[in-house]
Amino acid sequence: MHRTRFAPSPNGLLHLGHAFAAIMAHDLARQQGGAFLLRIEDIDGTRSRAALVPEILADLEWLGLSWDGPVVYQSDRLASYAAAGERLMAQGLLYPCTCNRAEVAMAARDIGPDGPIYPGTCRGKTAPPGADAAWRIDMARASDLAGPLWWEDELAGRQLAGPEAFGDVVLLRKEAPASYHLAATLDDAADGITLVTRGADLLRASHIHRLLQALLDLPVPGWHHHGLLVEADANGQPRKLAKRRGSPALADLRRTGEDGRALAAALRDRRLPAGISLAAGVGMAP
Ligand code: GLU
Repeated sequence: MHRTRFAPSPNGLLHLGHAFAAIMAHDLARQQGGAFLLRIEDIDGTRSRAALVPEILADLEWLGLSWDGPVVYQSDRLASYAAAGERLMAQGLLYPCTCNRAEVAMAARDIGPDGPIYPGTCRGKTAPPGADAAWRIDMARASDLAGPLWWEDELAGRQLAGPEAFGDVVLLRKEAPASYHLAATLDDAADGITLVTRGADLLRASHIHRLLQALLDLPVPGWHHHGLLVEADANGQPRKLAKRRGSPALADLRRTGEDGRALAAALRDRRLPAGISLAAGVGMAP
């Protein structure tokens, strides 16, 4: 019996792609009598909007999805992120970085799965006192310490963790208490998630999460990275749905009186609106 979760970031209203992801996670748990949790990933102070949370909850109810237990808010868990950060610092695996985004982009020599790879400018240095620093993981050192690690995706199969491809990612951010990677990994463990269900665009992130599990002695779940709802861009290439590119918000459909349960049934049967298809490809670029 699986415990799964849907973990939206309240940065914008949910669209059909979110509905599909929530239904996948919900059904994978419910089909076997397992539990489905809802976690609001609301620690990005620059993008997160509390006013969107009631909309998200109403959207899920409108789709006919129910979750177990209270809604989990990452903003209630900052102490656990800080404690994990300290633990990794004590192992000498984090270093402070004062580079800004533009400096990283300028200095980067390679592009990784998540954008420019940090070239290690601040590695081995200490930040000036009072400097606003993010904390990066020394990936080569951390991978060495952890040794070879494997993880299992229900669709993509057994994977050898390769977090080195991302370079020294940020774990403790300047403008937020933790990065997505650290917070999501700790929360999935704290919530007893046994099957991390999310879109294939996040498949590669699991390499980093597997490493963090090893470094922080966390239980290792299974993963299910499902296909994404996509539309064609101007060149006919598939791209993820996005509200900013005109995908309708569930909240708008709900307000116009559309039947949410019928929409959920259609998504389950892969009866998709015109122009939208399901890209089964695992590991598609976000
Ligand atoms: N909060 C992430 C998002 O909205 C999802 C993270 C996850 O499922 O691990 O894209």
